Amino acid sequence: MIRVKELSKFYGNVKALDSVTFDVNNGEILAFLGPNGAGKSTTMKIITCFMPPTSGTVEVDDFNIYENSFEIRKRIGYLPETNPLYYNMYVLDYLNFVAEIRKIPKEKRKERLDYIIDTCGLAAALTKDIGTLSRGYRQRVGLAQTLIHDPEILILDEPTLGLDPNQIIDITGLIRKIGKEKTVMVSTHILPWVESTCDKVVILNHGKVVAYSSFERLRSQYPDPQNVTLETIFHDLTIKNISLSELGKITETSENVWSDKNNSAANSVSTNSEGGEQR
Ligand code: ADP
Ligand code: MG
Repeated sequence: MIRVKELSKFYGNVKALDSVTFDVNNGEILAFLGPNGAGKSTTMKIITCFMPPTSGTVEVDDFNIYENSFEIRKRIGYLPETNPLYYNMYVLDYLNFVAEIRKIPKEKRKERLDYIIDTCGLAAALTKDIGTLSRGYRQRVGLAQTLIHDPEILILDEPTLGLDPNQIIDITGLIRKIGKEKTVMVSTHILPWVESTCDKVVILNHGKVVAYSSFERLRSQYPDPQNVTLETIFHDLTIKNISLSELGKITETSENVWSDKNNSAANSVSTNSEGGEQR
């Protein structure tokens, strides 16, 4: 399990995280959501011990990031946002290379490789240069890399970024399959998939947790829950800055935003025409 406690992070003067607290329980798939710049990647880099926080802590099982980073790394498979791969390596050579780095014993290596190649559907791509693969296939290689040492936990940072709709279905299906056996924390903007697949949702906005709940619980705060999507909730919490306790008390969500915009556009046009500044 992952326990994130009061995590704060400054980059110089920029406060990227502000007292972020949440847990990911064993076996859960947790969706880690938020607009670009909210602090998702920063949080993931801290949990995976790639970067220290300014304050606060993270515990993975009984280990914490300050004292046991090696133990934590062993327990986590991490797919960074950029999915760094060696484009001039064959897929199989790359997977062998990762197995070597992860110190998978030689006698277990074939079994692990067979397992990840099968799970991630890579059999047809083994002798291809990574650089010639489609983005969807590269994400499969990235996911395979996270699984090689059989970690309990996967941390996946926007694994669907830049994929076309077919590739998104492919990769989200794969994550759903893997998630049956692992604890998964995944950041994504594919909200309908989150609704159908994830057990819990954390929504970050400007470095703060604005929601930590299940989708069902969040939508139950609205008067007509069955018609509320995660997109609406996301929008209410991150653009309209409605607080969690006030969710659902304002019902005509998107219409309000558009009519506000239209009104202000209309106002500015009328001001301009009255002031005679145009033409
Ligand atoms: P997300 O992954 O949700 O898009 P990030 O964690 O990448 O958000 O970024 C959070 C905030 O921290 C943003 O304001 C971003 O500009 C800033 N930030 C991220 N990385 C750095 C960095 N290396 N140096 C300075 N600011 C950074
Ligand atoms: Mg990011």
